[in-house]
Parts: sequence; C-alpha cells; structure tokens
Amino acid sequence: MRILLVEDDQALGEGIRTALKPEGYTVDWLQDGASALHALSHESFELVILDLGLPRMDGLQVLKHLRAAANPVPVLVLTARDATSDRIAGLDAGADDYLIKPFDVAELKARLRALLRRSFQRPQPALEYRGIRLDPASQRVEYQGQAINLPRKEFLLLHEMLIQPGRVLTRDKLQQALYGWDEEVESNALEVHVHHLRKKFFPELIRTVRGVGYLVDK
Ligand code: CA
Repeated sequence: MRILLVEDDQALGEGIRTALKPEGYTVDWLQDGASALHALSHESFELVILDLGLPRMDGLQVLKHLRAAANPVPVLVLTARDATSDRIAGLDAGADDYLIKPFDVAELKARLRALLRRSFQRPQPALEYRGIRLDPASQRVEYQGQAINLPRKEFLLLHEMLIQPGRVLTRDKLQQALYGWDEEVESNALEVHVHHLRKKFFPELIRTVRGVGYLVDK
C-alpha cells in the first residue's frame, strides 16, 4: 500500500512516517506542493496525506490540479486548528476527509483505513491470466482454482505485472511500486520475489528482459 505524504513540518512528517511503517504502508514523503503534484502525475499511490500550508504551491492548489486531471486517488487533508474555511475549501476542492492538527496517530490510522476501505469498494476488476486469478479488492490469489498465499511484496509484484501483460516493466518502476523511494532494498530483492512467483505459478510467467526489467507475455 503506497501512500504519498506531503508535509513540510519535519517533526510531524517523521512522526507520521514512523507511525505508519509498522502498519505495512510504504510512505513516500515530500515537503512541497510542486514536487507532490509532479510525483502524483507520474506515479501511482493508493492514498495521499496532504498538508494545506506548503511551500512552492499550497495543498489546495495541488488538490485542485489533481482533480482537474481526473485523478481519483483518495486525499486526506491536514489543516491547522480553527481554520474552518480551509477545511471547507479542502472538501470543496475534492478532499475525501480531513484531520485537524494536532491529531492523535491512532485517529490518523483509523481515517486511513476507512478511506482505503471506501476506495477498494470502487469496482476493481479481478485480473485473470493463464489460470491465475488476482482479486485486488479481497487481496486473494488463486491458481487453477486453488488459493495461493502470497507475502505482501509478492502480491504487489504480481499485481503490477498482471495489470497490463505485454508491457516491459523496468526494475526501477517495480522497485518503487514495492518499496517506495527511501526504503533500503537489498540489490537482489526483486530477483528473489520473481523467483518465488515463478516457482509458485509457472516458470514462464515472468520473463527477464536483460538489462531492462521484466515482462509478462500477452
Ligand atoms: Ca505546513
């Protein structure tokens, strides 16, 4: 689950990131609005935590651009205490929820869970490929009718690979989808996950494209 956190307050940003990591979220953290908008238009996230008061483009502008581009990613806005007009403006601009600073981390986690539940209720078709069935909504995987239990990273990798067969996915892109920007990754981690997926399904499932990345044939 990849989350983009946009917050210019160092302590708060660190705090949120530290609190969310054990929950299994991958948190990418940016500290200004322009970088956030750039990241959002080039990469995909399951959710955005967006502070409104930001340098280089405030959060409200980021949100307006995002929605004008028809990006449906759920957005939780963070606002200062008593800034009622900010909250209203945020919701009007397409925020899905808001939290007033200072907030309790437990409340933040609860709001995120609720938002993610709602967004997964939007229809997300199951992916089917040569006997494999991956259902993003229930996070279940079957192979030839049998349930297959996949660790989180393998599930994410398989999902990424099956979205659009025939497309070569670069190592960089896959690593970002699995680990985010900052997480320390062992250099052969991706190979190990690919190896496991080939073993659990069938060897030709994922082809290595030398020097580039990986491919699932059409
Ligand atoms: Ca701020």
